Amino acid sequence: MNTIIINDNNIAVPARIIREGGLVAFPTETVYGLGGDAKNPEASKKIYAAKGRPSDNPLIVHIAEIHQLYEIVEDVPEAALKLAEAFWPGPMTLILKKNEVIPKETTGGLDTVAVRLPSHETAQALIRESGCMIAAPSANTSGRPSPTSASHVVEDLEGKIDAIIDGGDVEIGLESTIIDLTGDTPMILRPGYVSLEDVKRVTGAAEMDPGILSENENVRPKAPGMRYRHYAPKGSLIIVEGQQEAVIAKINALTEEAAKTGQRAAVLATAETADRYRGAKVYNIGSFAREDEIGRNLYRTLRTFDEENIELIYSESFETPHIGQAIMNRLLKAAGHRIIKA
Ligand code: AMP
Ligand code: MG
Repeated sequence: MNTIIINDNNIAVPARIIREGGLVAFPTETVYGLGGDAKNPEASKKIYAAKGRPSDNPLIVHIAEIHQLYEIVEDVPEAALKLAEAFWPGPMTLILKKNEVIPKETTGGLDTVAVRLPSHETAQALIRESGCMIAAPSANTSGRPSPTSASHVVEDLEGKIDAIIDGGDVEIGLESTIIDLTGDTPMILRPGYVSLEDVKRVTGAAEMDPGILSENENVRPKAPGMRYRHYAPKGSLIIVEGQQEAVIAKINALTEEAAKTGQRAAVLATAETADRYRGAKVYNIGSFAREDEIGRNLYRTLRTFDEENIELIYSESFETPHIGQAIMNRLLKAAGHRIIKA
């Protein structure tokens, strides 16, 4: 298949592709999505095939108007409405009981549906112009880091989808916060830019899925997608935790070891600490004081390790105040939960 790359001011062509059952990758404020008509089961099947995604891992339905939510769910609880008013358009996905409108091919066989109203203008224009609700997971090959620029989508999906809209680099760089509203208390199934505290402020009570926080493999995350190996670079990634000085000393000792055995090692560090390391190439993920920057750079940096054939990566821990939980959730998954205490 020939994949066309489209400038983001030309929406008519990709909108027609979506309407006709084809696949278009498009920018959102979180990461690039791989979109198809959410009501068309054949389009959803194509999304799974292009990504190599397990068919029990549901897609997120993207809408451009709040009334579209009422079209596809059984009912909108008060907490959902409050959250929608507070954080839509934006990086938040709500899980609700679905009605018959969205086929099970789109929801991985579940009787619930994930819905998001993105703020990115191109995403909104594509939804409106196509006249479709757009089912879209992240536009990466299953298991790889999510794409934060059109070039990442080209790397993973060129030749497998109809079109890619190039909208430049995304703003947030981490996938949306997923909130399950089918139980008594809103539950975060995937941390994101909208934090647990943000949610609590709006709904009064909210909790984090215990499966997200636990290092015990028997406590399974509730969102199917959070159970799979994800984001992992080809080299082994290990997180070093502790007081800053101890972490720096430990990582320097570890990279010296690696140099002796001839392994290609790298350090993932912040702007504040980057020049404290010797003996291995240092990747600066951004300033610790600007956590948005760390969020935005994470997946790009993880992809760079593969391009540069890095075999061993030692990373600092990025437990920042607001989106730190989202950043560390992704980093821990990428590291397969391998942590060294300094
Ligand atoms: P992605 O868009 O690639 O970030 O993937 C969508 C994420 O949403 C995956 O982690 C899914 O498991 C999750 N998800 C989608 N629909 C549901 C649902 N109905 N219930 C729970 N998780 C869902
Ligand atoms: Mg994904």
